[in-house]
Amino acid sequence: MSCDFLALAQPGVQKLSPYVPGKPVDELARELDLDPATIVKLASNENPLGPSPKALEAIKAHLDELTRYPDGNGFVLKSKLAERYGVGVEQVTLGNGSNDILELVARAYLAPGLNAVFSEHAFAVYPIATQAVGAQAKQVPARQWGHDLDAMLAAVDGNTRVVFIANPNNPTGTWFDSEALERFLSGVPERVLVVLDEAYIEYAEGAELPNGLSFMAAHPNLLVSRTFSKAYGLAALRVGYAISSARIADVLNRVRQPFNVNSLALAAACAALDDQAYLSESRLCNSTGMRQLETGFKAMGLDWISSRANFIAVDFGRDAAPINQSLLRDGVIVRPVASYGMPTFLRVSIGTEAENARFLEALRKALGH
Ligand SMILES: *Cc1c(COP(=O)(O)O)cnc(C)c1O
Repeated sequence: MSCDFLALAQPGVQKLSPYVPGKPVDELARELDLDPATIVKLASNENPLGPSPKALEAIKAHLDELTRYPDGNGFVLKSKLAERYGVGVEQVTLGNGSNDILELVARAYLAPGLNAVFSEHAFAVYPIATQAVGAQAKQVPARQWGHDLDAMLAAVDGNTRVVFIANPNNPTGTWFDSEALERFLSGVPERVLVVLDEAYIEYAEGAELPNGLSFMAAHPNLLVSRTFSKAYGLAALRVGYAISSARIADVLNRVRQPFNVNSLALAAACAALDDQAYLSESRLCNSTGMRQLETGFKAMGLDWISSRANFIAVDFGRDAAPINQSLLRDGVIVRPVASYGMPTFLRVSIGTEAENARFLEALRKALGH
């Protein structure tokens, strides 16, 4: 008789299903016997322009250090981040992607009997991080696809230790303004850690989206997490960071793996941070591409959720799976979001002008236009 090692897993883990990423280009190329170069992938919100050339140079310059452990304290990158954002080095925590930050928070602050509050249609990693440590995930119904911050506030109870909020949110692209954030932060009990996930904040233009960092002085229970995976184009290297009070950073560093960010990632992130011109170019590419897709959707009579990130969720008003299949056959990979409770939508990352055009063409075909 053999044991059932699923049944032996802790109850929160048994209820999870593995994270499903966007389909890799090589996988589709193998399945359809296509040249990978002809495939367009708009599925994982990566920067279609790739990383800054300066980041690539920095990686090459550090290749001969691969035999050594990286700087476990990430001194140079932390100093650069601290300087850029006007915070102390002791307020910065580095993560192996910002996913790592979310897990550090869960490991440090959640446990069986405690809970984390987050929104319906929010990032898939929130329930994973929460349930993995045996805590309860309290999912609050969304309002017009976005966070219902008042309802989330009402969901906070005596056992709540963490609230995850994303601005803009993935996969919906929805956002909230300064006033809403301030009202929320003022209402949350001081002992609840608010994780403000700003993975896409670099795409926000103008004052429409609040900069979470400016709320930290008044709200010491706020942690802002950001990443080099999206606008900075370094998704494969896995580097993200949190800015919080020094106290919270100290706690996170107690559960952090000693060498969680590798040396190539550290070097590339420093160079990327210094190349703000490249970031502006990436932002411009995104806003132009967003308009291109919206115009295309409009011409096809489709609805979408207005987005302030580098992706857009388009609604077909019926099961989107067959449309996704048709796009795949045409060598176009986008992201089905049925697992996010959005079966009639597909999430499309903004690509280059040519990639967006390829996608729109394939979509027209898929819809029989
Ligand atoms: C992509 C994304 C992240 C960042 O993931 P990394 O681990 O930094 O690559 C975090 N939060 C949200 C909402 C995201 O969409």
